[in-house]
Amino acid sequence: MITNFPNEKYIALIGNPNCGKTAIFNHLTGLDQKVSNYPGITVEKKTGKLKSDSDDVINVLDLPGTYSITPESIDERVVAEQFMDWIHGINRPSAIISVVDATNLSRNLYLTTQLLDLGIPVILALNMMDRVKDKSVLPEFSDLKEKFGLAAVVPMSALEGWGLNELKNAIQTSITIRNPRKSRMLFSSHLEVHELLNPLSEYLQQQFDYTPRLARVQALRLITRQSAVDLYRPPHSGEHYFDTEIVSIIEELREAAVQAIEKAGLNHRTLEATIRYTWLDNLLQQSENKEVEVLRKITRSEKLDKILTHPIFGPIIFISLLVFIFQSIFSWSTYPMDWIDAGIGLIGNSILDIMSAGILRDLIVEGIIGGVGAILIFLPQILILVFFMTLLEDSGYMSRVAFIFDKFMTKVGLHGRSVLPLMSGYACAIPGVMATRTIDGWKERLTTIMVLPLMSCSARLPIYALMIGAFIPARKVFGLFNLQGLTFIFMYFLGTFTALVIAKILSKFIKTKGHSSFVMELPPYRVPLMRSVFHQVYSRGKLFLFNAGKIIMAISVVLWFLASFPKVTVDSTNISNLEQIEIVNPIHNSYAGKIGHTIEPIIAPLGFDWKIGVGLITSFAAREVVISTLATLYNVEGDGENVVSLSESMKNDINPKTGLPVYSTLVALSLMVFYVFAAQCMATFAIVRYETNSWKWPLIMITYMTSLAYIASFLVYQGGSLIGKF
Ligand code: GDP
Ligand code: MG
Repeated sequence: MITNFPNEKYIALIGNPNCGKTAIFNHLTGLDQKVSNYPGITVEKKTGKLKSDSDDVINVLDLPGTYSITPESIDERVVAEQFMDWIHGINRPSAIISVVDATNLSRNLYLTTQLLDLGIPVILALNMMDRVKDKSVLPEFSDLKEKFGLAAVVPMSALEGWGLNELKNAIQTSITIRNPRKSRMLFSSHLEVHELLNPLSEYLQQQFDYTPRLARVQALRLITRQSAVDLYRPPHSGEHYFDTEIVSIIEELREAAVQAIEKAGLNHRTLEATIRYTWLDNLLQQSENKEVEVLRKITRSEKLDKILTHPIFGPIIFISLLVFIFQSIFSWSTYPMDWIDAGIGLIGNSILDIMSAGILRDLIVEGIIGGVGAILIFLPQILILVFFMTLLEDSGYMSRVAFIFDKFMTKVGLHGRSVLPLMSGYACAIPGVMATRTIDGWKERLTTIMVLPLMSCSARLPIYALMIGAFIPARKVFGLFNLQGLTFIFMYFLGTFTALVIAKILSKFIKTKGHSSFVMELPPYRVPLMRSVFHQVYSRGKLFLFNAGKIIMAISVVLWFLASFPKVTVDSTNISNLEQIEIVNPIHNSYAGKIGHTIEPIIAPLGFDWKIGVGLITSFAAREVVISTLATLYNVEGDGENVVSLSESMKNDINPKTGLPVYSTLVALSLMVFYVFAAQCMATFAIVRYETNSWKWPLIMITYMTSLAYIASFLVYQGGSLIGKF
């Protein structure tokens, strides 16, 4: 395990999913991490430095949300493993901020009771106070502090931005505390358990130097869940502290303790929860008021859920929303796209005017402006897509979607929690693959990862948009839908549908033990924080422009070179037909031309010409590159006196052998279908390799996706041509 901040002070933020940890983290550090109303968004640890007037450097660690440190899923394990380090004195934080949702105290404080066992000062951040209607129903803060043995209790609202100075002050004071106060006896309700746990807890105490209290709670945790024992095994333990021999002794003692506890008429699986909740309820009851009443928002949430998670209306509403979103992407983006297109043309043409003819001018105009410009125009569509996705997620709606589709997802070998990762796949497969960590069963998780790249990501969007815009007529169908919009939705549907089919097939082959269960909190509906939504849109846009832009720029330049050289001059005096005119066009003798012509026989059955062939190769790194490739090729081929419009050149391109246009509606369909399935994204393979920790799965992924792409395109083109003949 990677240690955090060697030799530096740090504090850790821990809390249930959706309690506002990341929002607080952003306030404390001035960073802008993604906050989201969906459990499991912070799947990895995030770090930053505390903004403060003090010279002391204090680091802040944001951990994934968890309900308990006895882990049930991978994202929870991140925190549990962190805990193992701390328990064993490794890299302990100076203080822990236990973030709780003040509207749901009792359940949130469960985790706090676990944090108190460590002997590290715990600050209780009572977040979301803005949602507590009547503050007087909360327990006295001083009471909470005393009874729990907390370092401080800070009521606050990360949303409204208050309580933060108090929190910072509490941090400054508590990190100097050496011996935090002890909370009252945890086991008081179940004193008889002491004895039953004794053999195990004494062994732990003597073997690992635990305090008596820690030894006892660790023993309790070990008997509750096998996963707690697994934490003592490498690799979770970080390998530095336990022999296998020690672990097998723990196993034996655990087995004995489980027997003893069952014999005493207790349930070993629920014992930890029973003991902690009894203790908690006692403490909270002793505080003057028990019930925390919440703003009416919650009940409104419940009413909304009656409709939105309704077995029939739920899916209908969801699908209508999707249709609306995809139609909007198409219609809203026309104007900004035209502006960008005009802007690029203007820049290109003014460079043509300013610079004198030569290789450098060709490089800038044909290579860089032609290639990069062709992709830039799709920025508005990508931003609109991300905007809607963020809204759905932040409002809390996505969790409902997971809930509605759980049954269905389970049928196809996936999981309710697969829905969000799959949906984020519409934006980009990479965050989607990361988000699968919230799925607790390995089999369901792996299946989700394997089919995720079939969801049409925003890199496919430019390809669909270009082809549809140029070759699908903007006709109305059924008087209501636009044929272009429908084709667009169809491409998304095709990818999604295939993903579900492949998932079903894959789940028959992937063998693992155990089945995962669906437990998911439905977070209350919230009005999305517009600042956070726009930030998300901005950062995705930036990512697209700069990360993808860098690749596109580099490939465009290389490609321009390959398409422009070697420059051959051909004696054109005795050319008689169209085919010969084409052949003497220098681009055919260029390196790119040669590569394209070499693979042309393989892709000709799909209806693709050599230029698309070059695009298929260059876009292996990233799909959208195919567009800049085509743009560069057409620009190099063009007269050099004007920046050509890609869709115009495609429409005008004539195949010299047949004398027919290179592109037709059928070719456009075939090409789109190819990109629905094709595995053209290096970054996705890298992340799949990382998340599955093997080369096997990414290789299987590339193979099946490429085969699927080829076969599907083949069927579309050949089938379409056959139909066309009759
Ligand atoms: P995390 O999962 O604990 O990291 O939670 P996030 O920081 O991602 O926040 C979860 C949701 O709660 C987001 O929609 C936030 O906008 C919202 N939120 C965070 N803090 C507050 C708060 O103090 N009041 C209210 N009303 N909402 C909050
Ligand atoms: Mg978070």
